[in-house]
Amino acid sequence: MKIICIGRNYSEHAKELNNEVPDKPVVFMKPTSALLVNDKPFYYPDFSSDIHYEAEIVLKICKNGRHVQPEFAAEYYDQIAFGIDFTARDLQSECKKKGLPWEIAKGFDGSAVLSDFIPIEKVIRAGIEFKLRKNNEVVQHGNTADTIFSFEDIIVYVSKFFKLQMGDLIYTGTPAGVGPIQIGDKLEGFITLTDGKTEHVLTCDIR
Ligand code: MG
Repeated sequence: MKIICIGRNYSEHAKELNNEVPDKPVVFMKPTSALLVNDKPFYYPDFSSDIHYEAEIVLKICKNGRHVQPEFAAEYYDQIAFGIDFTARDLQSECKKKGLPWEIAKGFDGSAVLSDFIPIEKVIRAGIEFKLRKNNEVVQHGNTADTIFSFEDIIVYVSKFFKLQMGDLIYTGTPAGVGPIQIGDKLEGFITLTDGKTEHVLTCDIR
C-alpha cells in the first residue's frame, strides 16, 4: 500500500507558503508507518518545534491501474476520508533551502492522520466541503472544487509514474490556513455530506 500526497493543490495555500502555483501536481509519498488511525493521539516528536496541521481529503484507490486515461479516472476511487498531513515545517524549510528531499519533514511516524472512510456517493464528488477545528475554532475550511488539480487529474498524472493499487491512499492537498500545533491541542475534522449535514469524522489530540 502506498500513501501518495499532493502538495500545493490550492492556490491560496501555495501563496501562504510563498510557493509558486504549480503547472503539474507536486507529488511526494509517506511510508505506511506514518498512518495514524482510529482517533489515536499524536505525540509531538522531539526533532521538530514547528509541526503544522494540513487538513486534506484523502482518496482510497479501488482498482489497480497504470497510465489511467482521463475518462476512466473517476472509477479508480470509491471512498474518501478526512486526513491530516502533519508537516515538520522547520525541517521542511531546511530541506527546501538546500534542495534536499523532504521525507523526514513529511513521512515521520503519525504524520498521516486518517479518519474512517466514507463512500463517495455520500458526498458531493465535484466539491467536497471540509473543515478543521483546532480547540473549537475553525482554522481551515476548504472545498475540493477549489483545487488546482482535480481528483481525476491527480489519478491520471500519478499513474504515469506509479502503478495504482487497490488500497493506496492519495492525500489531495490542503487549503489555506495551515498552522502550528502544540501539546494539549485538539484537532477535529468535519465533512459535509450530500444531505447537507456536516459530520464530525475525526479527532486528534496532541500529546
Ligand atoms: Mg499537504
